[in-house]
Amino acid sequence: MDSREMVELDVETGLEAMARGELTSEAWTAALLERSAALNSRLNALTWQAGETALAEARAADAARAEGDERALLGVPVAIKDLLNVKGQPCTAGSAILKGYTAAYDATVIARLREAGAVFVSRTNTDEFAMGGSTETSTYGPTRNPWNPDCVPGGSSGGSAAAVAARLAPAALASDTGGSIRQPAAFCGVTGFKPTYGRVSRYGCTAFASSLDQVGPMARTVEDAARLYHVIAGADPADSTTSPQPVDGDVAALRDAHDLKGLRLGLPKAYFAEGLDPEVEQLTRAAIGQCRALGAELVEVDLPYSKYGIACYYILAPAEASANLARYEGVRYGNRAEADTLLEMYENTREQGFGAEVKRRVILGTYVLSSGFYDAYYSRAQRVRTLIRTDFEQALSQCDALLGPVTPTPAFRVGERSADPLAMYLGDIFTVNVNLAGLCGLSVPCGFTSSGLPTGLHIIGPAFGEMQVLKIGAAYQHATDWHLRRPADPPPDADVDAKTK
Ligand code: GLN
Repeated sequence: MDSREMVELDVETGLEAMARGELTSEAWTAALLERSAALNSRLNALTWQAGETALAEARAADAARAEGDERALLGVPVAIKDLLNVKGQPCTAGSAILKGYTAAYDATVIARLREAGAVFVSRTNTDEFAMGGSTETSTYGPTRNPWNPDCVPGGSSGGSAAAVAARLAPAALASDTGGSIRQPAAFCGVTGFKPTYGRVSRYGCTAFASSLDQVGPMARTVEDAARLYHVIAGADPADSTTSPQPVDGDVAALRDAHDLKGLRLGLPKAYFAEGLDPEVEQLTRAAIGQCRALGAELVEVDLPYSKYGIACYYILAPAEASANLARYEGVRYGNRAEADTLLEMYENTREQGFGAEVKRRVILGTYVLSSGFYDAYYSRAQRVRTLIRTDFEQALSQCDALLGPVTPTPAFRVGERSADPLAMYLGDIFTVNVNLAGLCGLSVPCGFTSSGLPTGLHIIGPAFGEMQVLKIGAAYQHATDWHLRRPADPPPDADVDAKTK
């Protein structure tokens, strides 16, 4: 197998090739590192590449396999969002305030991937502290969409999505607070899965909004995403919000998911309302038609409070973020700025270390939590959150899962929404509710617009309904080939280093 074939391997085919002795992890990892070195200046998907340490992990995996070791991800190279701590690797959350920081420990999800034999090949770009929907707020500059380098890859996990789409890694880990796995997956034509809140440990995941954050996988197929999910999921004594519920389900059985007979799938009326791009609507409806052809019964459902999701999320997420980011003051955490007095040092540290979007959210968050406005904003948003959750519980009591679009538009152009935060926030309309309600959600590629940009089908399941959602996604994917399309390599003139400097 030559290196061009190796970078095309997904997790499943890579594992099979290694089991047959036709591929070594070392050669696979080296091929991906070589491709990353060649392409990353054009895409800016990666913030750091592991090089020799990844090759050493790969060699160790090859040696273990030679001894008969068959762990679930043995020798599989994965890219990790620059928000999750991998011991010995940089972890900066895309922020200047953490530049130069090297992780002192493994996040629980990383420890579990490591136990399963994974190889940590690179770090992926993210909006600063995962705040954003375009990967433009990173201190490392914007990531480009592999399908069109003039467009954003989505965010905040745009680096992970672009890396998987551009064949820099067969799979990646990312995080989703209000859509950051599903939205970039949709924009880049890959599969992204946000598990139920409490399903996956947040220990070692740099906190944004702790009641909403959830770590999950991105991959090229539902089966590969499920494989990673299965390894990282489950109770963790280091995160008391993880659920003790056992992680059930047979990932290998997803291979046999070929129909949707006996399933009732709900179509939320609010998800097909004004503001939905006509091409995205048409592609989503075609995907839903495919689900009906596979045997699903479709029912309309109401989510009357979902229209308040954006307002509610953009009060609660900044409130939690302002508290979580208080620790970066140059003493306990973060780079320290020069100053004459302690107060000035705090001010300079945060002024210089944080970018505009993070500052906007810290200011908004402290405002809604301040004593004069707490009742009017924070406490009211908490009550609206309960109504949104009840909405979903009711809708999901009438069906097995919900179907709809992931995003109201396809990927937009780099810079298009940078000066208009509200336009950026409105793009999260279909994803934030899933986090507010604590549910699980999957994005699978479901077609391309006339300008060649991918879109995603959103499959939303009840809390802990992961296997059901993955099964629906797998059956859809087995009947379609959108996930098999691959973007052409970006031309060298799309060199982002040159453009952004
Ligand atoms: N785009 C949303 C925001 O800016 C979601 C981000 C995320 O899920 N991390 O908050």
